[in-house]
Amino acid sequence: IEYTADVVVIGGGGAGLSAAVTAHENGANVIVLEKMPRLGGNTILSGGAFNAVNPERQERQGIEDSTEKHYTQTYEGGDEAGNPELVRTFVEGAPTALQWLESLGMEFNDDVFTVLGGMWPRANKPSTPLGTGFIDTYVNYIEANDGIEVLLDTEAVELIMDGDRVVGVNAKSFDDTVIVNANNGVIVATGGFGANPEMREEYNEVWADLLSLKTTNHPGATGDGIVMGIDVNASLVGMEHIQLLPMGDPISGSLSGNIEQGVENRIFVNKAGNRFVDEGARRDVMTQALIEQEDAFMWVIVDSHSYPTEDTKNNFNESIAELMEQDRAYKGDTLEALAEQIGVNSDNLIKAVEAFNDSVEAGNADAFGRTLFDEKLDSPPYYAGARVPTVHHTMGGLEINTKGQVVDTNGNVIPGLYAAGEVTGGIHGTNRLGGNALAEITVFGRIAGESAANAQ
Ligand code: ADP
Repeated sequence: IEYTADVVVIGGGGAGLSAAVTAHENGANVIVLEKMPRLGGNTILSGGAFNAVNPERQERQGIEDSTEKHYTQTYEGGDEAGNPELVRTFVEGAPTALQWLESLGMEFNDDVFTVLGGMWPRANKPSTPLGTGFIDTYVNYIEANDGIEVLLDTEAVELIMDGDRVVGVNAKSFDDTVIVNANNGVIVATGGFGANPEMREEYNEVWADLLSLKTTNHPGATGDGIVMGIDVNASLVGMEHIQLLPMGDPISGSLSGNIEQGVENRIFVNKAGNRFVDEGARRDVMTQALIEQEDAFMWVIVDSHSYPTEDTKNNFNESIAELMEQDRAYKGDTLEALAEQIGVNSDNLIKAVEAFNDSVEAGNADAFGRTLFDEKLDSPPYYAGARVPTVHHTMGGLEINTKGQVVDTNGNVIPGLYAAGEVTGGIHGTNRLGGNALAEITVFGRIAGESAANAQ
């Protein structure tokens, strides 16, 4: 089977679909190739947090913020290893990308919050669960407009070249060969390689052991776009920077079941019932600290500020009642009762909570350097949920410029080739802030879509 479109997008997650919609808004007809039987990728599994400076929401909550602060936190939070120009493009584009999503009908809650490892309350939270709001918004647009065709179960295998120019994609759908010609350009938006243990191991230089870890990722996050890029001499950046979270479900590795509702209102304790890290720290810092605890295992402790009722849901649309029924969360009317439920030393747990509450009252950095506080943990019932390290995000990937064009190993743009989303590298440096991914993939998806649509 052979198809032709102005713009061909490989990957139907948040980056690919924002690129497809934007290319269409710029007058292109578009074909999206998605290897899985459904759209959404890792985007739809995420907690949905979208970091963007939003004065309207933040001022109402008394939160001071600026794109400069977002820039500094992102750049320094990645140890200054990101490309400053790309970081700048990202933070400046995030508020506009948010407005664009809202103009397409996507709804967000009135309040922003701090997501784990996000360092600051600037995460806009979709009104619908997980990342469904993003994907539903794009699907609604695609259904309401002619000119974007989605081919599911269609896996891109290689880029088609004409001289030094990318002119299409060879793909396969079950036993069929699919050739897709691109008049203007191809956008690679295949996501990361968190679900590819061999590839993780090949590039990992930072973590002691990645092979045995589980991942939050969907099974299609295998780094295909990076492999296709290497074949056309694309430059790779930051491949060794792989993000782990301390927030994996002990059985599946997924994010689901996580009982935290925001950074300010929970602590982590190890199997002895002791705190061990600043729970507002960077993701790499928290995960390294967790790896050093007994069995690399911890409990997240919250109280009824996080769950006023047992029907209250977490960020993954699961109620605390449901999680308790599945033995993924435990409840105690006192800290002692909770300690008994989860088998930690109750004196330690009580002391940990008391010390935490003292810090909340004082408002100063605590013994672990934590500065993000809100309510004390003093309102029963108390809840605990178990978490382990899990592979979450791959910061490295294809090198792009601020127009979303892919750059080759000689520093030249590869004509006809664009990329956006987790498949790219060079933005988050060594460590991506929580809540930055969905915003970044949308910003650069839009840029790639616009560039490809307007290419000659
Ligand atoms: P991002 O956040 O960058 O959009 P996602 O993981 O959300 O990343 O989406 C990437 C999408 O690309 C997934 O739906 C994945 O199944 C798809 N994908 C990955 N490799 C291929 C491929 N070779 N051909 C087609 N689609 C692919």
